[in-house]
Amino acid sequence: MLQTNDPIFDPISRQYHADMLALATAAINARTERRPKVAGRSGRFSQSTYRQAQAELATATTHATLLLSGADMSHSFVKEFWKEQQRIINASSWKIARDVANGRYSFDKLKNRPVTELVEARLDLWTHSLGRVWHLGLIAPSAKKFTYQLQWLIGKTEKHCNTCLGNNGRIKSKQFWFQLAIKKKIYPQGPGLECGGWRCDCRFKKVI
Ligand SMILES: [Zn+2]
Repeated sequence: MLQTNDPIFDPISRQYHADMLALATAAINARTERRPKVAGRSGRFSQSTYRQAQAELATATTHATLLLSGADMSHSFVKEFWKEQQRIINASSWKIARDVANGRYSFDKLKNRPVTELVEARLDLWTHSLGRVWHLGLIAPSAKKFTYQLQWLIGKTEKHCNTCLGNNGRIKSKQFWFQLAIKKKIYPQGPGLECGGWRCDCRFKKVI
C-alpha cells in the first residue's frame, strides 16, 4: 500500500484502503453466500449496490484529497483534472463490481488463498491513483498562491524506474514540477513515468 510519510495523506490513504477492502469483502461474501431464496435478502449487497458504494467512497476520498493538497478547485486545470478523475472512478467502479459479481474473487477460483489477497492487489491500484491526485494537487495552481519548493524522494519499492531514479533528491519549485507534469505527465505516481506510476511509491516533500 502506498505510503508517503505525509501526515495528511497517509491517514487518508490508510482509511481509504481499509474501507475499500471492507466493501469488496462484503461484496465477495454476499456473492458466495448464495441465499437468493430467502425473501428480502437476495441482492442485499448486489453488484449495483457495491458499484455505487465503491464509486461514492472513491469520489468523496478523491475530492477531499484534492482539496487538502491545496489545489484551487475553481482553476480550469484542476476542474478538468477532477472531471477526469470522476470518469475514471465511475468506469473502474463498474469494472470491479462486474468482476466481483462474475466470481473472479470467489473461493473456488482462489484455491484456498485468502479472499483478500487478489482483490487487495487490485485495490492497491486505487490507492496509487489517490497518490497521483495528491501529488498533482501539491503542484497544481493553488487558491492561496503559496509558493514553495518540493523535493522528489523515492520510496521503499525495491526496483525504481529510471524516471524516478533520475529525479530522486531533486529540489525544484512547485512551478517547475507543475510544468513537468503538464508537459510529460511526470510526477510521483504520474502516468508519464517509465513504470506508468502503478508501482511508484515516490513522494514530494515540501522544502520551505
Ligand atoms: Zn517512483
